[in-house]
Amino acid sequence: MNRPVMAANWKMNNGPTAAREFMHAFLDQYPRQNDRTILIFPPALSLHAVAESIADRQDILLGVQNVHWADQGAYTGELSVGMARDAGARVVLVGHSERRHVFGETSEETAMKCAAVERGGLTPLLCVGEKLEHRDSGIAEEVVMEQLRVGFSAMTQLRTKEVMVAYEPVWAIGTGRTATPADATAMHMAIRTELGSICGDRSRTAAILYGGSVNASNARSLISAAEIDGLLVGGASVDTGSWLSVARS
Ligand code: PEP
Repeated sequence: MNRPVMAANWKMNNGPTAAREFMHAFLDQYPRQNDRTILIFPPALSLHAVAESIADRQDILLGVQNVHWADQGAYTGELSVGMARDAGARVVLVGHSERRHVFGETSEETAMKCAAVERGGLTPLLCVGEKLEHRDSGIAEEVVMEQLRVGFSAMTQLRTKEVMVAYEPVWAIGTGRTATPADATAMHMAIRTELGSICGDRSRTAAILYGGSVNASNARSLISAAEIDGLLVGGASVDTGSWLSVARS
């Protein structure tokens, strides 16, 4: 297995003051670990607060939850990759299911965002995942592979640059339902194979994370499953206690 990546997606929680308090409590109880990487996706307004708190922690990386595909321009309310990099982000979450299904983001838009992330020198963490109706009708893998192919289709240096993927079945996000480790492993194997045709040998070291109602009780069995290189955690990452348990799994 690749070095595990434990990623916290705070969604619209933890503004700057709460983010500082969270990081203070977390860092107090989580000394540097050499066997895993922690990745924190705060809301953009809290990037600076988290960046300051991890200045001397190479085992903790900062990410941004969303960017626009343009490098700059008249896009009120949007953030560019360059701004995220300037604020300390190293990784960009692209195509999270809430972006796709609440805000109507298309796979073509995820492709433009991944290309912008590459141009800006950051690493995309592309989220893919099927809806329950796709799983029930037996086309889960087809849907996920298509999201993967399209999402990375506009990047030009896939064979040399780092990419990350999160498999997050839509029916498991924020619902309390989790894919079994065996189901997740099967999809992760398919993703790794598809990545092989997309980015060649780089596919072997690309981190493939699982996400969907991960919590303190199920994290260990999921991270121990074959082909699961890490966990992307929403609800259980907002509270320091549950996040500490997941991060240590
Ligand atoms: C997520 O936001 O990526 C996620 C998986 O959320 P949750 O852990 O709450 O299901």
